[in-house]
Amino acid sequence: MSNDEWATRGNGVFIGTYSRFPAAMVKGRGCRLWDADGKEYLDFLAGIAVCSLGHCHPQVTEAICRQAGALVHVSNLFHTPPQIELAELLVAHSFADRVFMANSGAEVNEAAIKLARIHSGPGKYEIISLEGSFHGRTLAAVAATGQPRFHQGFEPLPQGFVHAPFGDPRAIEALITPRTCAILCEPLQGESGVRPLEPDYLLAIRELCNRYGLLLIFDEVQTGLGRTGTLFAHEQLGVTPDIMTLAKALGNGLPIGAMLTTETIAASLTVGTHASTFGGNPVAAAAAVEVLRIMLADGFLESVRDKSRYLVDKLEGVAARYPHLATGVRGRGLLLGLVLTEKGIEQGMAIVQRLFERGVLINFAGNRVLRFVPPLVVSREEIDQLIVRLCLVLDELA
Ligand SMILES: *Cc1c(COP(=O)(O)O)cnc(C)c1O
Repeated sequence: MSNDEWATRGNGVFIGTYSRFPAAMVKGRGCRLWDADGKEYLDFLAGIAVCSLGHCHPQVTEAICRQAGALVHVSNLFHTPPQIELAELLVAHSFADRVFMANSGAEVNEAAIKLARIHSGPGKYEIISLEGSFHGRTLAAVAATGQPRFHQGFEPLPQGFVHAPFGDPRAIEALITPRTCAILCEPLQGESGVRPLEPDYLLAIRELCNRYGLLLIFDEVQTGLGRTGTLFAHEQLGVTPDIMTLAKALGNGLPIGAMLTTETIAASLTVGTHASTFGGNPVAAAAAVEVLRIMLADGFLESVRDKSRYLVDKLEGVAARYPHLATGVRGRGLLLGLVLTEKGIEQGMAIVQRLFERGVLINFAGNRVLRFVPPLVVSREEIDQLIVRLCLVLDELA
């Protein structure tokens, strides 16, 4: 079966929610993917910041296979060793004391919204999030998402969500009412164009939460698990949340998410108040345990910071060489965006498309910046290969 044949079959049966590249991926190793026609790709997208240890990392694959041979599912009516080991690791390496597991980013954000509401009590239900944010596609998560294009056609959305303009703590303060229970934000906005929140801004948000008795929720679904060069992005920003959500990279491709919080706040979710049939599934949890062990091993996070400096430097070189198309680089760790000029933005889709044709995968985040989120195990040689092909494409378009 060729790419074309797979695409024809897929297009014949799927609901049309995705615009897909015309390739059916059949194999992955490290930072490489192969499609059904046998073409090789250099992957700087990593399943959208999911496959942080690279495709089919041997130790993760082994953990998955071992657990799949032992026990796949029993529901949360029972304990399972991988889920407990995972929760212990998360607690040991974060501010949190307690963990709830689900299967995706949107689901753990839903859990965080429910927790913030039940913990704050009757009448205190409103959550302030930021314009340009992305929190997922379920109804409450999409209501929290500060981008109207994701709301259109799905109204009425669940009530109790307001959005503050990005960057100004006073704009957030103006939205606080006696109904407010929490402020929800990403330490760095990924989907809307790799926009970091400055440490001062985050600190001001933390202070607002303290002053008005609000919970601070960090959506680290994309920034968490080593992506920004520390295990969690907030560690390098000097601000600690009350609740944190994780998903994307946690299972290196298996679906798993976790919501973390403190002992006191967790106490508000009692038996029967929340649940997930598959949440913390043993196979996904076994993969996540292995992911954390590898990321916590000596030198791993340091190597991410090292490769980040290398890639930033190369991308800054690209921006300097093509000033009519790019203005600079932003982001943290290996969650980086090449910021485009107006002219560059017009060409953004074409750049992504031509890189795809040349066997390199990136995306055009928020239709504003070229986003680079390679597996964290990417090598300098692979970064060099990306830069060579990116320059070829930009030369073509110049
Ligand atoms: C991807 C993402 C989500 C949604 O995760 P899903 O697993 O697709 O539900 C939520 N928040 C952020 C910051 C994300 O990047």
